[in-house]
Amino acid sequence: MEHEHVRNVDPAVADALEGEVDRQRNGLQMIASENHVSEAVLDAQGSVLTNKYAEGYPGSRYYGGCEYADEIEQLAIDRATELFGAEHVNVQPHSGTQANQAVYFAMLEPGDKILSLDLTHGGHLSHGHPANFVGQLYDVEQYEVDPGTGYLDYEGLADLAEEFEPDVIVSGYSAYPREIDFERVQETADEVGAYHLADIAHITGLVAAGVHESPVGVADFVTGSTHKTIRAGRGGIVMTTEEFADDIDSAVFPGGQGGPLMHNVAGKAVGFKEALQPEFEDYAEQTVTNAKALGERLSENGFSLVSGGTDNHLVLVDLRESHPETSGGDAEEALEAAGIVLNGNTVPGETRSAFDPSGIRAGTPALTTRGFDEDDCRRVADLITRVVDAPEDESVIEEVREEVRALCDENPLYE
Ligand SMILES: *Cc1c(COP(=O)(O)O)cnc(C)c1O
Repeated sequence: MEHEHVRNVDPAVADALEGEVDRQRNGLQMIASENHVSEAVLDAQGSVLTNKYAEGYPGSRYYGGCEYADEIEQLAIDRATELFGAEHVNVQPHSGTQANQAVYFAMLEPGDKILSLDLTHGGHLSHGHPANFVGQLYDVEQYEVDPGTGYLDYEGLADLAEEFEPDVIVSGYSAYPREIDFERVQETADEVGAYHLADIAHITGLVAAGVHESPVGVADFVTGSTHKTIRAGRGGIVMTTEEFADDIDSAVFPGGQGGPLMHNVAGKAVGFKEALQPEFEDYAEQTVTNAKALGERLSENGFSLVSGGTDNHLVLVDLRESHPETSGGDAEEALEAAGIVLNGNTVPGETRSAFDPSGIRAGTPALTTRGFDEDDCRRVADLITRVVDAPEDESVIEEVREEVRALCDENPLYE
C-alpha cells in the first residue's frame, strides 16, 4: 500500500491514506457494517473506469466507448444473479440508501405509506426517518421489536399493518442480531396488499452464502449494500422480479442517479466472483460462529445482550444493567483508545439519546476476513470487558492496546 502516485502529488493525502492503512491493520475493526475488501476489489475500484461515463445499461448506453463498461457491468449482473437467484438485478445504485430510494421512487407517490422498523430498534435512516427525505416525502409509521425479548414482534407488525394499510412494508435492519423471517413479513404484506422491500444491506454476504434465509423469491424487492458482509466494495444493489424490472431500472437511472460509478461496478463484479467461491461460504459461516462466540463470552462476563445473543454477524449490548454509569458513547471512546473500533448504538426502549446511546454494537465481518476464529473472538470479548469495566483507567487501556496489537500481528491484513 504505497500510494506512490498520490505521494508525488499530494503528501498530505498520502500521509492520511497511510495512516488509515495502519489504523485498519493495527486495530480491531468491529463496526458491524464494515469489512476489508480484497486487494483485487481495491484494484478494480481504483481503476481507469472512474473516467468512464456509461449512462444507461449494458448494450443501451447514452455514450460511446462503453464496450468494456458493458462487459464488466454484465459480469456483475450475471454473478449477482447466480449468487442470489433473482430474476432481475441492478448493480448501479451508488449505495444501499440509493437502492432503497430507487424502490420508493419506482413504486410510491409522495404521501404514500411506508411501514418500517423504528431506528432506535434497529432500523435505518433510509427507511423513513424524519431526518431523511424519505421521512418527509412519504407517510411513515414504525413498528418495534418486542421490548421483553428483543425479537421482532411479527404479530405487532401484522396488527399495525392492518390498521395503517401501508403501500410498502420494509424488513431488513442495521442493528438486529436475529434471523429475519422474511416469509412471515411477506404474509403480512400479502394480507394488507403492500409491497415488501427486504433490505439485506447488513446480511448480503450471509444471504449470498446461504447462512441466512434469503428474501429473494419471497419479497417483491431486495436491496443491499455491497461493502458490508459481502465484501464487494462500496456500493448498492437492487433485485426484483421481471414484473418490476423496468420500473426499477428507470428509477435508478435516470430517476435518482446520473452516470454509474463504473469503477465501483467493477469492484462489485470482482467481489461477487469471490463470493461465488466455496471459501466464501466458510467465511460467512465463520463470521456467524465468531459473533456467537463473542456474544457468549460477553454474556459470561456480565454483559446483557439485546435478544440474549445472536444468529448473525453482530451483537448488540445493552449497558444499562451491567454498566449504568457508562453510556455507549463512553464505551466507544474508551475502546477506540484501546484499538477496538465499534459504535455506540441505541437499544430498544432507549432511555438516553441517539448521540449518547445506551448500547454498543459489535460485528465480526472484518475480524473474520483477517483470519480471526472463535478463540480470538473470545479473547476480544475479554478485552472489551476489561476496557468497559474501567473506561477511565489509562493503564488498562494501554495494556489492552498491546494485546490488540498482538492479535492484529497474528492475523495480518493487506500484507
Ligand atoms: C447500511 C444500511 C443501508 C445502506 O447504507 P449505505 O451507507 O447507503 O450503503 C441500508 N439499510 C440498512 C438496513 C443498512 O444497515
